[in-house]
Amino acid sequence: MAESRYQPGQVVPCSGVYRISHKGHRDDHDGILLQGQLFPPCIVCGSQVEFQLIQASNPIEKQTDFEGE
Ligand SMILES: [Zn+2]
Repeated sequence: MAESRYQPGQVVPCSGVYRISHKGHRDDHDGILLQGQLFPPCIVCGSQVEFQLIQASNPIEKQTDFEGE
C-alpha cells in the first residue's frame, strides 16, 4: 500500500487526522486538517515538515445524517 506524503503548500485532499513528521526538532504528532486547506509550513523546520493521512474523517456537519436542512 502506497503511503501518500504531503508537503506544505499542497492542498489537503481530504479531511482527517494526519501524522505530522518534522525534521528532527520534535517527535511526530497527529493533527486534524480540513479538505481544501493548504498544508502549513512549520515555523521551525519550514517546508521540510511532512504530512501523512492516517484517518480520513469529515466534520459532523458534512456527514449525511447531520446535514443542515
Ligand atoms: Zn517542524
